[in-house]
Amino acid sequence: MDLGIKGRRALICASSKGLGRGCAEALAAEGVHLVLNARGGEALETTAEAIRAEYGVDVTAVAADITTEAGQAEVLSAAGPIDILVTNAGGPPPGMWTDWSRDDFIAAFDANLLTPIALIKATLPNMMDRGWGRVVNITSVAVKAPIPVLGLSNTARSGLTGYVAGVSRQVAGSGVTVNNLLPGLHDTDRLLMLDKVDAAAQGITEDAARAARTATIPAGRFGTAEEFGAACAWLCSDKAGFVIGQNILLDGGAFPGAM
Ligand code: NAP
Repeated sequence: MDLGIKGRRALICASSKGLGRGCAEALAAEGVHLVLNARGGEALETTAEAIRAEYGVDVTAVAADITTEAGQAEVLSAAGPIDILVTNAGGPPPGMWTDWSRDDFIAAFDANLLTPIALIKATLPNMMDRGWGRVVNITSVAVKAPIPVLGLSNTARSGLTGYVAGVSRQVAGSGVTVNNLLPGLHDTDRLLMLDKVDAAAQGITEDAARAARTATIPAGRFGTAEEFGAACAWLCSDKAGFVIGQNILLDGGAFPGAM
């Protein structure tokens, strides 16, 4: 299927690796020009070069911390007017409710709530003026099924979910859609880190921690960044203009609810 977005311009935050990179590759495969971002310049440039070589699209790489105001300003200025915004950042660390301080919450809110809100606020007006735009926020299954050790993530991402529910409906009449993509367990560095934490906490091997996690997924495996990216590209496509304010879960059937 031609997704109808060839020649569009997308900003994909936190995209040198993992799910962000999956989104970048899927959009590049549709002929979308990209602005990529991550803190580490070396991995970012390697990813940018690989995408340029494989898909022949323009790729601008901006090494910056997207969770800071200075980083956001740098990325937005390099990006210029964009048609597609994919917000993403690293997830908060796991822990116990007794340990989290006010500063921990503020850091999580900055990264996973206030950063996407700032980027949305900065880019939506131009999309609305031009009558077409797509925003996809990478959030988490945690907004549907909170994960106790990821309380910082549960709290910040629930806030973003509420924000998107309102804003998406306020801007829908301008040809702009805003939706959230909720990853369940996907095979990325983030999951390797969580396996390490689980293994240390339970006195088991990382392989055993991973096997226990896999056993919770009816599909019998973790998701891939490619699958995640394909869903993102569809949400960003011309075909998905009637999808407004939705929370789309990609979790191999792990969430046990009917809807
Ligand atoms: P990942 O594989 O660890 O990749 C994270 C990417 O984001 C890297 O490119 C990293 O590069 C970049 N990044 C991190 N912090 C950044 C910052 N402050 N500014 C700019 N770039 C930043 O993680 P992932 O698995 O793709 O996860 C992406 C998001 O989905 C996270 O918020 C995660 O919590 C959430 N999530 C993931 C899963 C899963 O199963 N993987 C499940 C639920 C939710 P640098 O380190 O060089 O900056």
